[in-house]
Amino acid sequence: MGLADLHIHTVYSYDGTASISAVLKYAADYAALDVIAITDHDSIEGVNEALELAPSYGIEVIPGSEVSTADGHLLALFIDRPIPAGLPLYETVMRIGELGGICVAAHPTARGTSSLRFEKIHEVLQKPEIRKFLVGVEAFNGGLVYTRSNPLVELQARLLPLAQVGNSDAHVIQAIGQGATEFAGRTAADLRLALETGATKVRKGHGLDGWAVLRRYIPYYLMRKLGWVVYNPHPRATFTYARLSQVRGYQQSLVA
Ligand SMILES: [Zn+2]
Ligand SMILES: [Zn+2]
Repeated sequence: MGLADLHIHTVYSYDGTASISAVLKYAADYAALDVIAITDHDSIEGVNEALELAPSYGIEVIPGSEVSTADGHLLALFIDRPIPAGLPLYETVMRIGELGGICVAAHPTARGTSSLRFEKIHEVLQKPEIRKFLVGVEAFNGGLVYTRSNPLVELQARLLPLAQVGNSDAHVIQAIGQGATEFAGRTAADLRLALETGATKVRKGHGLDGWAVLRRYIPYYLMRKLGWVVYNPHPRATFTYARLSQVRGYQQSLVA
C-alpha cells in the first residue's frame, strides 16, 4: 500500500513557508509518504526543482498546481505547463486534460477561500468528456482553518462518482501528511491508476481545529514576510532557515 499527499504548498506560493528541499525532506523522512504533488497557487515554478531533487530524497513527485478557477480551487496533477487562472471549471478541466493531466476538486465548500460547490461539481460531471479528467475529490483536507470539523463534506464527497482523496493542503512542513491518500502500489503511476479507477482511500490526519492550524502557521508566515523560509541543505542534513531570495531559483542538483 502506498501513501500520497497531493496538495502541498511551497515558497512558490505567496503563502507558502517551506523550500522545495524542506518539503521533500519532511514528506519522505517524517511523513513516510511515497508520492507527493507540489501544488502551488497558479504556478508550476517549483516543479522542476522538485522533480530534480526528489530521487535523492527517495520520494516521487507529481508536477501540479492549485488552479484558481472562476468556480473555486482545483488541483491539476501530471501537468508540465501552467494552467491559467480565472477560467470556468469546465474549461479548466478540459485544458488540464489536453495537457495529459487529471484533476481533483480541492476543499469543496470550504469557507475563507475560493471553493467549488458540490452542485457545480455534479453539474460538470454530467458531461462525459469531463469524467476522464476530473477524477477525484478532497473528502478530507487537513489544513483548513474553517471546515475541518465539517463531516458534511465527507458525506457529500461520497455521493460523487470520484476517487476519495485525503490531502494536507500544507503551508508549513509539519502539516505535510496530515491528510493523505492510500493506494495499491507505491509509484505515481500506481496512484494515477487508483485515482482514475476510484480505488483510493482517505487517511485522515490528527484533525486539529482551525485555531491550532493558525497557531502553527502564523510564526512561519511572519518569518516568510521577513524574508526567511524553512530549508534543507542536503537529504542527510537537518532543517534550517534560508533567505527566500537565495532559495528561489535554487536549481543546483544534489544528485550531481
Ligand atoms: Zn485552495
Ligand atoms: Zn491549497
